Amino acid sequence: PIFLSVWEFHQDDIDLLSKKLGEGAFGEVRVGRMTTKDPKMSATVVDVAVKMLKNAESVNREQVEELLFEARIMRRLEHKNVLRTYGVSVLREPLYLMSELCTNGALREYLKDNQKTITLADKLNFVLGSARGVEYIHSQKIIHRDLAVRNILLAEDKTPKVCDFGLSKLTDRYEMKEHCKIPVRYLAPETLELFVFTSKSDVFSFGCVIWEIYENGQQPHDGKNAQTIRAQSKKREFLKLKTSAPESLRELVGEKLIMPHKETPLPPNFVFSPHDKFYYAPATCNS
Ligand code: ATP
Repeated sequence: PIFLSVWEFHQDDIDLLSKKLGEGAFGEVRVGRMTTKDPKMSATVVDVAVKMLKNAESVNREQVEELLFEARIMRRLEHKNVLRTYGVSVLREPLYLMSELCTNGALREYLKDNQKTITLADKLNFVLGSARGVEYIHSQKIIHRDLAVRNILLAEDKTPKVCDFGLSKLTDRYEMKEHCKIPVRYLAPETLELFVFTSKSDVFSFGCVIWEIYENGQQPHDGKNAQTIRAQSKKREFLKLKTSAPESLRELVGEKLIMPHKETPLPPNFVFSPHDKFYYAPATCNS
């Protein structure tokens, strides 16, 4: 027999249910029932979300590595406001990544679908919980790099859980040289100009998350292209929070915390990609 760590599972330990939770770049996310021997788990059979990698022909090596990288990062994290990952199943295809089941789905959809019933207290809880998750991630020396309401899930009791560590880095400063994917709508001016990510640039993106929460899941800078967003950022024209948001939050997300710095031209090998979610791409990348 093959002996597995508590982190590794056989596919037979996972009972896939028919309920589909969503679909991402990697493939489907389904509800599953997982049998575990982990003494830290409250029960031996737990309901989980199973991210399944699409069939082997349609995924490339890079995607498999990205999924395993994400799993390795998430494995280190244990916090109420960060999506808990239970383990992987890699012995047989398709690959599975099992995580905590968030029955209220993605925060973005929740905000859009429940505009009439969400209270200001709910919104403040989303902000506060997510902020605690980000603070914890930073305490573990991880930069998330893709904070947005589409990457926050809601548990059954509406506790927000930060997720999607596909772009995250285990460092306190990351300078982008070859990376293809960055979410321009959420980036700090220093990132747009110098291509440097730190926990502080995550904090800027978190300001955009707060904006999204008070705008009921609307996309920041909707309808604007990457050049326009970058030009506005250079002029220090940022998103403004609605007056329905508490005054203290509006001050926190205000412009006065952002220091002006020298303008840097776009390096010659960078072009703007027309991709919907990510914008800068070195000319050699085709994402
Ligand atoms: P990508 O990975 O391409 O950036 P994504 O983040 O939307 O895209 P997934 O992480 O694969 O892709 O998730 C797809 C959808 O499945 C989510 O938007 C969400 O609705 C649902 N989902 C994912 N994980 C869970 C979970 N743990 N609990 C409940 N629903 C989930």
